[in-house]
Amino acid sequence: MAAVDSLDTLLISELRQLYDTEQRLTKAIPKLVEASSNSDLVNALSKHLNETRQHVARLEEAFGVLEAEAEAKTCVSSKGLISDADDRAGECERGSLRDAAIIGATQCIEHYEIAAYGTVIAHARLLGRNPVVRLLEATLSEEKAASQALTDIAERVVNPNVRAGVSEVRPRTTA
Ligand code: FE
Ligand code: ZN
Repeated sequence: MAAVDSLDTLLISELRQLYDTEQRLTKAIPKLVEASSNSDLVNALSKHLNETRQHVARLEEAFGVLEAEAEAKTCVSSKGLISDADDRAGECERGSLRDAAIIGATQCIEHYEIAAYGTVIAHARLLGRNPVVRLLEATLSEEKAASQALTDIAERVVNPNVRAGVSEVRPRTTA
């Protein structure tokens, strides 16, 4: 029999890939913070790092409710998007252009997460798993807010700086 033979097992498999994604992001976001210059971008990414740690915790709670082992299953898609974000940042000199690159690549990750959480919420709802639905909805709204915050920063400051040729370079910190 196939490993996934019901909506219950499909949901667990999907959650395990999200668990992999969120754990990978807790390691990837600090590098993006370090590579960023604009203070609003640094703050938005740092805030989302804290939220991402909550996303990991909520998934663990969901596994508990579903009586499934909290086990990560490699998500090749988000692994690739995270690696692209790293590459993209590395291609540009520190400054506004690199900030624009980081925002674009991070948006791809956020939109992946928004799509993936939308799916697991729909599947958990079909199964009548309302406590799981609520946990996942809390995360989805933070993913959407993070994406919106990045759009605002791009439109308000980073893209205008790129156009004006202003390179807002943040000195490396050891904080
Ligand atoms: Fe997340
Ligand atoms: Zn996110």
